[in-house]
Amino acid sequence: MIILFMEKEILGGLVVIKVGDITEEEVDAIVNAANSSLMGGGGVDGAIHRKGGPSILEECKKVRQTLYPNGLPTGKAVATNAGNLKAKYVIHTVGPVWYGGGSNEEELLKDAYKNSLELAEKLGCQTIAFPSISTGAYGYPKEKAAKVVYDLLKDYSKNPKLKQIRLVFFSQSDFETFMKVVGNE
Ligand code: ADP
Repeated sequence: MIILFMEKEILGGLVVIKVGDITEEEVDAIVNAANSSLMGGGGVDGAIHRKGGPSILEECKKVRQTLYPNGLPTGKAVATNAGNLKAKYVIHTVGPVWYGGGSNEEELLKDAYKNSLELAEKLGCQTIAFPSISTGAYGYPKEKAAKVVYDLLKDYSKNPKLKQIRLVFFSQSDFETFMKVVGNE
């Protein structure tokens, strides 16, 4: 068996790209690709709640009772505790469902990343880990998402407030798709 240790730094070391399980990351904030209910779900959302434990859901319920009674709108972000995860916060954001590209998906995907970064800054975080938002159940094409995220982070790297941004891909092929977009620049 070949075990590849995949981790690459880009944008002057601000961004680390790796393959792994985001629930293992040791960072100030772990971003969750949540759904607007904030009540948990499949994919990375389920993994975060399972590993983090019930205190995260408790706080999500409070958010629903106060700030967002109708659910967290797509592109917005909200923070809770991180329970048993090796992080201070979980930042829940809702990426867009892919409807073919004509439904403002690109802007909404950017918003999800931007609002998560801004919230992390406000909370005094230095490090943050993102999963590949919207590219699972929500069906956003991986290469298109990679381009959006790379462009956004390139822009962010001009005046970064966070020290490190980790992009955690769940498979090597997703990692390679992202690296291909970086390589094409
Ligand atoms: P969305 O509904 O936003 O598409 P998903 O959770 O279905 O969210 O998928 C988002 C991405 O997260 C997918 O690329 C999926 O492979 C990945 N993913 C799922 N579980 C994990 C995990 N434990 N760590 C990192 N990434 C994960």
